[in-house]
Amino acid sequence: MKILVLNAGSSSQKSCLYDLPADNLPTNPPEPIWEAMIDWTVLAGKGVLTVKANGVKQKIELANSDRRLGISQMLNTLQTGETQVLNSLAEIDIVGHRVVHGGTNYSQATLINDEVKATIQKLIPLAPSHNPAHLEGIETIEDLLKNTPQIAVFDTAFHTTIPPEAAFYPIPYEWSKKGIRRYGFHGTSHKYCAQKAAQLLDKPLDSLKIITCHIGNGASLTAIKNGISIDTTMGFTPLEGLMMGERSGSIDPAILIYLMREQGFNADQLNHLLNKESGLKGVSQMSADLRIILQAIQEGNEQAKLAFEMYIHHFRSCLGQMLASLGGLDGLVFTAGVGENSAIVREKVCEGFAFLGLKLDLQKNAQSPVNQDIATTDSLIRVLVIHTEEDWAIAEECWNLK
Ligand code: ADP
Repeated sequence: MKILVLNAGSSSQKSCLYDLPADNLPTNPPEPIWEAMIDWTVLAGKGVLTVKANGVKQKIELANSDRRLGISQMLNTLQTGETQVLNSLAEIDIVGHRVVHGGTNYSQATLINDEVKATIQKLIPLAPSHNPAHLEGIETIEDLLKNTPQIAVFDTAFHTTIPPEAAFYPIPYEWSKKGIRRYGFHGTSHKYCAQKAAQLLDKPLDSLKIITCHIGNGASLTAIKNGISIDTTMGFTPLEGLMMGERSGSIDPAILIYLMREQGFNADQLNHLLNKESGLKGVSQMSADLRIILQAIQEGNEQAKLAFEMYIHHFRSCLGQMLASLGGLDGLVFTAGVGENSAIVREKVCEGFAFLGLKLDLQKNAQSPVNQDIATTDSLIRVLVIHTEEDWAIAEECWNLK
């Protein structure tokens, strides 16, 4: 069974193809047989398509920044040239799409029909750089692969279980009724990591209290009780919560009012300031990439040091928030770019919770652990590093719906 996964970013398009047995699903994620990515940030007005398959890696320059054309060219590499893995696109059985915003409408992966498309369209104001890209992807596949079923896997789906006291904001109730509420994001990753954590701990997921920390450029924490999301740090948009690479995370909302009134900022400028010029990048005035910040600290840069210390402080505060919602903790999971690769972030964050009996094995922590428990044997809380597999989780959802 051939499952194609499409993952649209604001200025990128990733995709991969899995070839899975039709009768049983592998327990561990297999490698995709073909992987591709278009990056529209490298060359002005053009895309760079990178394709990996059959042990070959190809780079192809795309003439423009049209997503539909880009996807067509990308999928053509499945059936032609050195990266060919299919005789024809008709061999694809299902296409799974990562969709950032599904509102509260969808708590499960869902077969795409006109109604689902209309919902994704309706939610564009809440995910302006992602939902239009998802629709373009869905429509391109409709054109290219006429009757192939398409499945939407929503980032928000896992969080539809968050109870009203955690989901609603303390604003006039009518606004909550109109949809201004916490939706949460990175749901596919949080869900996958919670399931993987239960597997690694060899305990049933419905007996565990887990906090999953998805820490990449964007970052969010989720409190998961018995397999269900009960609280998360991202909210109405992916701006709330932790300090991130270039996003501020939570700040006093009156700062926005001040900037509008006293400094003449408009909505677009505020959006840019908080989403693109804040976080590690804004404080360090250097980079959103933690590796560069850590290097600068080694060289004695005080602003980089402040940025890192703030990053850890906000991480610990948000973790405290999730702990309070859970009322206990069996496992703390680190995942995504920073969570999987930065021993120092894991060490500093865990240090703040030593009073709970959480003890990190510093040697294991330093050895680039993957899918491992890195707590000491006598730690009262297990600490896991898990490699997130969002594309695989999407393929799994498609396989389950076949
Ligand atoms: P995205 O949110 O864009 O999917 P990723 O999950 O790929 O991001 O994470 C990217 C970030 O991970 C980079 O910006 C970088 O700061 C961080 N990162 C990757 N490797 C390391 C490392 N070895 N040490 C510290 N940070 C790292």
